[in-house]
Amino acid sequence: MIVVLKNGTTKEQRESLCEWFQNMGLSTHVSEGMYHTIIGLIGDTSKVDISLLESLSIIESVKRITEPFKKANRKFHEESAIIDISGRKIGAGHFQIIAGPCSVESREQLTTIAKSVKEAGAGLLRGGAFKPRTSPYDFQGLHAEGIKLLLEAKKQTGLPIVSEIMNINDLDLFDEVDVVQVGARNMQNFDLLKALGRTQKPVLLKRGLANTLKELLMSAEYIMAGGNENVILCERGIRTFETYTRNTLDLSAVVALHELSHLPVIVDPSHATGLSRFVEPLAVAAAAAGADGLMIEVHNDPQRALCDGPQSVTPEQFSRIAERVRRVREALAE
Ligand code: PEP
Ligand code: MN
Repeated sequence: MIVVLKNGTTKEQRESLCEWFQNMGLSTHVSEGMYHTIIGLIGDTSKVDISLLESLSIIESVKRITEPFKKANRKFHEESAIIDISGRKIGAGHFQIIAGPCSVESREQLTTIAKSVKEAGAGLLRGGAFKPRTSPYDFQGLHAEGIKLLLEAKKQTGLPIVSEIMNINDLDLFDEVDVVQVGARNMQNFDLLKALGRTQKPVLLKRGLANTLKELLMSAEYIMAGGNENVILCERGIRTFETYTRNTLDLSAVVALHELSHLPVIVDPSHATGLSRFVEPLAVAAAAAGADGLMIEVHNDPQRALCDGPQSVTPEQFSRIAERVRRVREALAE
């Protein structure tokens, strides 16, 4: 349930109202917007007498939220969220490109890519150290050594880093990782989501291969319900009957998620299409559709990449993509 307070309500009045709700066993979530202050109520609101509430002088309106996701719901938080990643902002007009290899392979590979994507305008560096591979015989990542190399690249370039976690027992290794990625295959690993909810780490939550937007938002809700509101949603393509591309990029997800939620939404055209030549047009399209950022796989030698070579763009191609995305965003802002 959402309770909108009238302008001019004092902090004391608000706090005493919140206390009243808390005494009914409800938890309260206060969001102070530019125009309104909203109190979100979570719990069994069936005992709340709406007419009584509406009759109070400080109440503007009361609405029930029918969707099962509350904290991730835009109704709970009218203004788009801005997530601060070690000083880089994403959301509400702040746009970030996350770029880097699918997997961290070596110090030389990572530092070469990191320097070139930084120069081209990437705001964050990505690299997988724990890789969820379909085949157990494929390269599984460098694990702790991969994280160590990412931290070195972060130190060298100043770029915050993004890396995927597969097992909550590895969380300590992610202490200095700026954004923890939950991959498509783990979108509904509820224990992992709950554990990340107990941290304050920004989480990049990727949509599952066959998950609906509501399911994605319920997964975000798992993290937020634990107290961590730093969630970035990522559309990375879904399974459809089409096989020409690795997945089917659902660009309408950007618009729908922005309607339903205040959380930032980014697009990963690399996993969505599986083809490096598709990355540029779809990155540009995602930016035009209002995405808050992009995640793009970049490799200095895609042919020899240990993972996802066919969808990886070269640093030169990345530089062109970043420039075109910048120009499209600039044109649309006019
Ligand atoms: C990745 O980002 O490297 C990855 C494995 O992505 P996804 O979980 O979307 O397949
Ligand atoms: Mn990949």
